[in-house]
Formats: sequence, C-alpha cells, structure tokens
Amino acid sequence: MYGLAFDKGLITPKFKISDVPVSYGGYEPHNYDEKYNGFVSVEFALINSLNVVAVKLLQQMKTPQFVNSLKKLGFNQIQKDEKKLGLSLVLGGCGVTLEQLTRMYHAFSNKGLFTDLNWIASDSNKGGFQVVSPESAYMLTEILSKVKRPDLPMEWQNSADLPKVAWKTGTSYGRKDAWSIGYNNNYTIGIWVGNFSAEGVQELSGAESAAPLLFEIFNTIDYRSEAEWFKVPQNIDFRLVCSETGLPVNDFCKNFLSDSYIPAISTNKICNHLKKNYVSPDSSISYCKTCLPESGYVEAWYPNFLPEIITFMDDNQVKYQKIPPHNPKCERIFADNKPEITSPMHQVEYYVDRTDSTNIMLTCNAANDVDKVFWYVNDKFLKSDAPTNKVFFKPTEGNLKISCTDDKGRNTDVTITVKMIDF
Ligand SMILES: [Zn+2]
Ligand SMILES: [Zn+2]
Repeated sequence: MYGLAFDKGLITPKFKISDVPVSYGGYEPHNYDEKYNGFVSVEFALINSLNVVAVKLLQQMKTPQFVNSLKKLGFNQIQKDEKKLGLSLVLGGCGVTLEQLTRMYHAFSNKGLFTDLNWIASDSNKGGFQVVSPESAYMLTEILSKVKRPDLPMEWQNSADLPKVAWKTGTSYGRKDAWSIGYNNNYTIGIWVGNFSAEGVQELSGAESAAPLLFEIFNTIDYRSEAEWFKVPQNIDFRLVCSETGLPVNDFCKNFLSDSYIPAISTNKICNHLKKNYVSPDSSISYCKTCLPESGYVEAWYPNFLPEIITFMDDNQVKYQKIPPHNPKCERIFADNKPEITSPMHQVEYYVDRTDSTNIMLTCNAANDVDKVFWYVNDKFLKSDAPTNKVFFKPTEGNLKISCTDDKGRNTDVTITVKMIDF
C-alpha cells in the first residue's frame, strides 16, 4: 500500500497524515494499541503499523487498484475473495502464504522487480514486472531498515550483531500468526511462527517470536554481510520540507527536514501549516476581506489544521492557537470549510428501541474559526453548542434530515431513516 502510494505521488516518507478516529460509512479502523497519534509522518506510520493510516491511504488509492496490484503478485485468496473485499483488506483481511509475502518483499530488494522463484538450481525463471518503481522500493527500504522502532526485539536492542536489513513484522488477529520478513542485497528471508492448527497463543507476536529468528538466520548465513547496501536510484531526489506537514517549505515555515521524493511524481504542494487571518489589534475579533473595519486591523498567522485534527486536539485537551471569533457584524456568506457531520451517518438506517428512550448522537468536525454550531432536525432548531460537544436527541420514526450550521452560516445536511423496533 505504502509502495503504491509513493508511486502515485500521494505521499513521501516525511509527509504527515492524520491518525485520528474516523468512520468510513460505519467502518471504524482502530490501531493495535487502541491509541491515536494525531498528525504523524508516513515513516512513523509504517514503522508503527498504524492501521488507521493504512486504511486512509487505501481509501485515497481506491480498493480496486490495490486489489489488482495484489492479484498480480499471485495472492490467490485475494483473487477468490475479490468481490467481498473492503477497506479492512489492507490490515490483513485476506489470507496470504509465507511464500507469497516473501516473494513480494524480495521485489522490494530487487528495485521493485517482481520475479518468479527458482526452486531448484536448474530452474531459470527470469523476467518479471515492476510491482513498484525502483524509487518507491528505495523509500520502503530506507524506512524499513530503521532500528528505532517498537518491533525491535528486546534481546536485540543493544546488540552490536544486529544485522543491517530492511524488515517488517506482523501479528495476525487472534495471535494465530507471527511474521517477520527481511532483506539485504544478498538474501530475503521470511519467517512464520504459529500452530498448524491455527490455534492462537497469547505470547505469540511478530516482534518477539518471529523477528529474533530472522536476525539469527541472517547472522548464520550472512554474518556482517559483505553485500553493499542499496544505492539511491537515479530518479530519487532530496528536498527540504516543513516538519509540520512534510511538504515543501513556505516562507513562514521554521523547522526543516530533508526528505526523499520522486520529481514530477511526488506531491509538490507547498506547506500550508499556517493560514493568514485578519484580526483586531487586540486579537479578539477576526475579519474577512468583506468586513475589514476602517478603524484598523492586523494580519496574523494561525494554525491551519484539518477539521478532524481540531476535533482530536480538542478531545485530548491539546492546546493550539485558535482564530478569534468572526466579526459578528459580518454579512458575508461563507462557503468553504463547512462543518462535517460525523454522526449520524448519511443515508444509514438507525434501529431504535420503541420502549426505550434511545438517543441519537450528533457530532461534527468544524473549522478552526468556529465557536458554535447549531443543530436542526427536519429544519426545526434543536440546540446550539460548541462544535466539539456531543449533542443527543430522541428521534421519531421515519426519514429525518439532520442539519449542522456553524456560526459563519455554513451548513451541512445528512438524512437518516429511523425504524422503531420492539426489542
Ligand atoms: Zn510549514
Ligand atoms: Zn467577515
């Protein structure tokens, strides 16, 4: 997924992506440790196996394209299950064999070129095809060879004998399978640990069960490998990016990082981590271009977070500089940055216990400059509240239009169907 996303230009290793609670039509991916990290770099997400980020990337890439790529890699189960695969596919919602997975990692060690295996010396499978570009394979290798990571086994943490390899671990749902696969320029090694009966074991994990074996085998067959490390491919370049977003720096950026990218492919959007606002000299009111007062105003830069990040930070009491409330005398109709209703979900049927006073929860993500939102049900005013507060209402049967209007007059509607059930 990450390799394909590099080639599509969606991401680069230092590019930042949000790891916050999300819902895709009712599917809510969770991270392994049930925690969310806010805004994280792609390399952090890959090293830490963040499920939420992987699902987000797949959602941007679209499932059919990902499925097609996996099919080409000979993942038979994916071919069989194709019609029922959704976003959870990227988290391992589909079976693969050790051979299939190891062969894929071998392509990463082979400039992205995927080849058939030669099982005996006289086999002469050659050729193959590019599963990812040499540039993307290089980016993956650089990230996967980092040693500061949660799945480096305890016993190897201070070992001078830790082999230099690119590697990844995995633990399947129910702790049935522990995986580790690694490569250098000489070898690709795949490890699976588990019961042939598929019975889960509490102590089984990719990091502690499979990774130690991987390193021992590397040290057994290729101790202090003489193999040269992977060279930077011709079409990779390096650029300064802002540490806030991982995007090429803007005039106002202060902290820089060097990041690899693929010229003409990787996103070249300029950093937008701040946004200019017009505010009163005492910073108590903000203005737009149509309501700038003659009495004077100043230009000030404020954080330009995605609404989902604002909700996350407010929920976690993370402090940030808020844009002051907008000029109450302003008459302009704002169109951009409408609130996003995160509950209830558009065009979903809700079953409600007739005898119980079940409530439906209303939540939204709103822009940084919003103080208050106004909730309506079937165009009837229900309640106003801070955008981060949850609002509840007791629904009536039938189709309901739920509207959320913010204090700039920007409005979003969803419709739901409520069915009363006698449980
Ligand atoms: Zn910046
Ligand atoms: Zn205004």
